Amino acid sequence: MTKQENPTYKFDSLGTKGPYRLVDYWYFNRSLQSYNVEGYNHMMRTAPKVDIGGIGSCSYCGTPIIHHYIVVDSTGKSFFTGCECVLKINHGLKKDMESFKPKRDKAVREASLMKRNANYNNFLKENEDYYRSLPHDNDYFAKRGKSFFDYLVYCGKDASKNTQHKFMGIAKEKLNMNPSLYASEVERFKNLIEGYNKEVAEQEAERKRREESRLASKHKFEVGAKFEGLELTCEFSTCTTSNWAYTTYLNSFIDKDKNCFVWFTNKKYSRGEIVTLKGTVKSHTYYQDRAQTIITRCKEIEIEAA
Ligand SMILES: [Zn+2]
Repeated sequence: MTKQENPTYKFDSLGTKGPYRLVDYWYFNRSLQSYNVEGYNHMMRTAPKVDIGGIGSCSYCGTPIIHHYIVVDSTGKSFFTGCECVLKINHGLKKDMESFKPKRDKAVREASLMKRNANYNNFLKENEDYYRSLPHDNDYFAKRGKSFFDYLVYCGKDASKNTQHKFMGIAKEKLNMNPSLYASEVERFKNLIEGYNKEVAEQEAERKRREESRLASKHKFEVGAKFEGLELTCEFSTCTTSNWAYTTYLNSFIDKDKNCFVWFTNKKYSRGEIVTLKGTVKSHTYYQDRAQTIITRCKEIEIEAA
């Protein structure tokens, strides 16, 4: 027999005996050492322990490896090998190797996110003073003393959205570090910033609107009291019960002072619709800290033209 036809001999020379089994996969995040020593040390402490050899190289050929496949011999001795050498032990282990592909892909993905995050944060840190001296790109936040640094931190906080390298471009452009940006790329950054500004402005307007309506709304009338000629504007209407027999809608209204009224009935009102009601106050409640007057047995009344 030639060596190639009997490839397990090297493993046997390690003092192990076939048949061999592939039992696990482990990702060696080597580059962690360059930007997160603590994380690197933790990874090394929690790495799987093997009987022969150690982390970082293939027990079969000695090549430095990132992807560690854990092989166990018939006596239970374990060691690391790289993916090529797994197949040299026994080509039949290919299937087992493939079963670790999801684990491997996930590890690679996570490592790249970690690295991207670290790069971005290091970059910001290095230029923190400069970016703190610039105003936030959004007027609203700029007026409240937020800096361009705050903006970059916000933009880059989610590495999985893959926007960091784009914002790095924006940041560098600000620093005038990257004058060679292509015009199309600069255009893209502008669009990105515009989109971001718009989103922030919308969120802020919505938050303000909610806050205002929360503060403005007070309970009206006494519980059990009857009212008449109450003019209300519908805010929204949503279906709460629906079956073959009946449908109920939650209709939320406000009066001219932004007090909130809720009426459960089988009629759906549309947003902006104005009604004048007579009815009874059923209860006083709160929804997300906003005072609501729940009304019941209401009737729409016609307003006579003056
Ligand atoms: Zn190898």
